[in-house]
Amino acid sequence: MSKVVLRVAQIVGVLVLAGIAISVAVGLVQWILGIALIVAIPVGAYWIYKQVKARKQPPALAAGAPVTLGRSGGATDRRAELEGRAVIDAAGRCGWCGSATLHKDEFGFPTTPLKYHRAEIDAML
Ligand SMILES: [Zn+2]
Repeated sequence: MSKVVLRVAQIVGVLVLAGIAISVAVGLVQWILGIALIVAIPVGAYWIYKQVKARKQPPALAAGAPVTLGRSGGATDRRAELEGRAVIDAAGRCGWCGSATLHKDEFGFPTTPLKYHRAEIDAML
């Protein structure tokens, strides 16, 4: 009698283990699919955003410059020329105004000459 009970218990145990194994496998697959979906959505959105942005902007302006639609190519060249002057030169001075000290933004943090003189550059275009 106890042998039969042991046999039944063994079968039940195997079935339970198999059930757990299957549920874990299914859960793992669902988890991987969920993660893949979560990763794919922002990556896909970012990729589409990049494609749209690259098509709208000429490559020279893609480096964070504000979009100036309706301007001629000459204005783009002039912007590039002016922005090229607003850099730290070899002597560590601001190429735009010649200041030897680092420019700071409105919060007191060091900023690039390009950002600091942005309004002046825009005014000269
Ligand atoms: Zn300066």
